Amino acid sequence: MSAAHAVAAAVPAQLYIAGRWQDASDRATFDVIDPASGESLATVASGTVKDALSCVDAAGGAGVLWAATSPRERAEILRRVYESMIDQADELALLITAENGKALADARGEVLYSADFFRWYAEEAVRLRGEIQTAPGGANKIMVLRQPVGVALLVTPWNFPAAMAARKIAPALAAGCTVILKPATETPLTALRLAAIMHDAGVPAGVVNVLPSLDSPAVVSAMLADERVHKLSFTGSTQVGRALLNLANEHIVNCSMELGGNAPFVVFEDADLDAAVEGAVVAKMRNGGEACTAANRFYIADSIAEKFAQRLTAAMSSMTMGPGDHDGVDLGPMVNAKTRDKVAALVDEAVTSGATLHTGGKVPAGPGFFYPPTVLSNVAATADILQTEIFGPVAPIVAFSTENEAIDLANSTEYGLVSYVYTRDLARGLRVSELIQAGMVGINRGLVSDPAAPFGGVKESGLGREGGLEGILAFTESKYIAVDW
Ligand code: NAD
Repeated sequence: MSAAHAVAAAVPAQLYIAGRWQDASDRATFDVIDPASGESLATVASGTVKDALSCVDAAGGAGVLWAATSPRERAEILRRVYESMIDQADELALLITAENGKALADARGEVLYSADFFRWYAEEAVRLRGEIQTAPGGANKIMVLRQPVGVALLVTPWNFPAAMAARKIAPALAAGCTVILKPATETPLTALRLAAIMHDAGVPAGVVNVLPSLDSPAVVSAMLADERVHKLSFTGSTQVGRALLNLANEHIVNCSMELGGNAPFVVFEDADLDAAVEGAVVAKMRNGGEACTAANRFYIADSIAEKFAQRLTAAMSSMTMGPGDHDGVDLGPMVNAKTRDKVAALVDEAVTSGATLHTGGKVPAGPGFFYPPTVLSNVAATADILQTEIFGPVAPIVAFSTENEAIDLANSTEYGLVSYVYTRDLARGLRVSELIQAGMVGINRGLVSDPAAPFGGVKESGLGREGGLEGILAFTESKYIAVDW
């Protein structure tokens, strides 16, 4: 048995409710698949609606006591979670690679990024403050308290099994909320291992509950319909986010939504080409392209487009593809056959409609859900690959001639999560950043994520922000008290 499979086999593969590990109420289970081989890694309990309501009982029951703990006590528990994650970083990384497929270096980066949310929100827990001011009329004071929103339902995707959970759990706990985490069906093991870490770090029973389930629509809608659930924090596709917003709307539940992206990567003619290619590889290939922040459309000034295509092709085709836990591998398999086949179909359609294929573009023979690094240029403006979130290791290149054209192209999408701009002219970088419709912009940087910064999108990429001060405020309500004194 490989080290990654051994770590996966050691995870408690049950539901974690009220501080206890338990089977599903109907004993149902499902298999977690190793994307590098297609083999089963573990068999996990599949939560039912009855179990979902037990989670709400547990989180609701623990809520008053947890909200009443001192900020310092909550901070110290979060700090212990951070330290345990760092101590266990090697095993956590192997576990992420085992169930998600990503290369071990990517998985290790994810563990450090995830742990950092616990460190950051341990620091923020003791700094959450309200406001006090004299009312404009002078008759009274306006006092605003920040109180925990209550029981929060957290629903996360498979592409960052640890980070998307940490980015929600850490601020929620810091704010004094109790939570129920419904991890993605493809990657529940990392979430369960995190639950064990939080348990050992002293998170009290009921404060964190983890409910893997094969029937996400049923368990999520049952919890949203329960009046004790006050918050939904969702990360996933725009399609599912839209459906959950409609449900939450019906029950008047406070929502934060981190949805899909279609990031433009704009390189002006004055850019440092070495830095642009290096940044393009990071923005495209981190997590094998399976990232909401992945550069999806490469808009390159026409005077350098050909050179950029050659350089990016050389960099991407030198990557080694294979099982994520093998030495020297920097591109693992995609998470499953469905996502791999979707990427293959987008590439085929682009080539059929006239794009030039520089490298990749062919599903390899053999086991596992692999797709190679692929570069396309001369992509038709109408090609599906420019309209859709690719979520794979494919870089489509389109040439542009003027700054205004680049901005129009960048904005020609219903998404608005992140954008990347490469130029040596900082004034241009800032001007373009202001005009690009996105929640985040990287100027001469292929990576923007930071626990201290507000992460999130505009347009159909979502509502609200995670990380930074906004990340903890999202788990609070403001209570206004009018006081005479
Ligand atoms: P998904 O929307 O299919 O699933 C997300 C979560 O919702 C999973 O836990 C899934 O089990 C659950 N789910 C699916 N259908 C449901 C339903 N009908 N009712 C209730 N729950 C349901 O997304 P995914 O395929 O797991 O993840 C990829 C998507 O996530 C991409 O679109 C990506 O851009 C997005 N994403 C966004 C961010 C961000 O911060 N904006 C970060 C990571 C991923």
